[in-house]
Amino acid sequence: MKDLTGQLELTNKKLKRRLYDLYTLFELSQHLNSVLELDPLLDSILLICLGQMGVGGAVLFLTQRGTLKVAKAKGMKSQDLQGKEIGLHSTLGQFLSKANRAILFGDLEKIAGAEEEVKRLDSLECEVCIPLNIKGRLKGILTLTPKISGAPFTSNDLEFLTTLANQLGVAIENAELYESVKLTNLELRRTQQQLIHSENLATVGRLAATLAHEINNPLGIIKNYLTLLSKKGNHNSETIEVVKEEVERIGKIVGQLLDLSRPMSEPRSPIDLNQLIRETSSVLREQLLRDGITLEENLSPISLVNASPGQLKQVFLNLIANAKEAMPRGGKLVINTKMEDNFVEISFSDTGEGIKEGEIKRLFQPFYTTKKDGMGLGLSICEEIIRNHRGEILVKRGKEKGSIFTVRLPEVGK
Ligand code: ADP
Repeated sequence: MKDLTGQLELTNKKLKRRLYDLYTLFELSQHLNSVLELDPLLDSILLICLGQMGVGGAVLFLTQRGTLKVAKAKGMKSQDLQGKEIGLHSTLGQFLSKANRAILFGDLEKIAGAEEEVKRLDSLECEVCIPLNIKGRLKGILTLTPKISGAPFTSNDLEFLTTLANQLGVAIENAELYESVKLTNLELRRTQQQLIHSENLATVGRLAATLAHEINNPLGIIKNYLTLLSKKGNHNSETIEVVKEEVERIGKIVGQLLDLSRPMSEPRSPIDLNQLIRETSSVLREQLLRDGITLEENLSPISLVNASPGQLKQVFLNLIANAKEAMPRGGKLVINTKMEDNFVEISFSDTGEGIKEGEIKRLFQPFYTTKKDGMGLGLSICEEIIRNHRGEILVKRGKEKGSIFTVRLPEVGK
């Protein structure tokens, strides 16, 4: 009777332990499945093994091109990990590929023909080795040092590790898949960039065609007037004036194009944008007022930015000129400055005609214009300059009417 009670107690204890192990495994696999990135996953795996088994060190090998290589270790000296590779075709590699269970190191030492390879692993102080197999393929192995308590690994421990190994294999496989999806995405984005680049080249082609047309027009006019002028006695000043205007128009086109392609050579220095805005608007205030536009400045304390003042002035002048042209019957232009994270933000809000929803994306394309005499180069030049300053230029429709153009530039040192 006493014997029976003892046996029952033992079975009960074993069952409880098994239940506890299963519950732990369930928790662990749930946790592991939630870690998608390979590196943090490997960290988690090692920490779990250290914690669950109470060991001082653990090493994780992963299969890479036919060889098991150390991928991550915890509680080990790095010199002890050097040169620790196991070929999958070696006797030891073959054995581990077929073993679907956790193995005591002592058992590995007994494999005939693998003595040399096992000996090479000596410095890992491996007590138990767990192959991580998935669908018959060896994904890696995990080696654990002896328990800190000095207690041996029990058959229960080995069973627990064997079941855990399956979960680890699946989690690693998932993370590798995730990494490869990430890589594919990166590749896709690169291809997309190349496409955009070739689209840019196509834009340059279209630009050249438009340009040829734009320059040819005034040239044709000049030619006609020169013919008139060359006729004896026809030196009238009106004709000369037309020629001058057309030559100026060509000069403007070429000048703006040069702005677009000129390398950003002006030296940069830490500048106060509030100051630059005050300078720019003081020159324009009177002229704007004459066109019925009031200019309001709303300047908050802001950090310095590392910039070329001439280029930024060009951007501000361009945005102000556009705002003015959007308010042919007058209105209000407000220039705001403020800090947003580590960026200085300068916004230009007008009460003009505004921008149609579908137009917003096209505004920065070279030669996009809705104006009769527009060149459509202003905003693309502005964007190029701001991008070269590691900033960005954003546009949105005003709350009630008009448009808001915002320039964001990183503060000095960011
Ligand atoms: P351009 O002024 O020669 O047309 P831009 O590149 O400076 O060239 O501007 C492109 C287009 O963006 C303009 O034709 C206009 O339709 C639109 N745009 C720019 N600024 C504003 C603004 N403040 N309000 C409304 N539309 C604007």
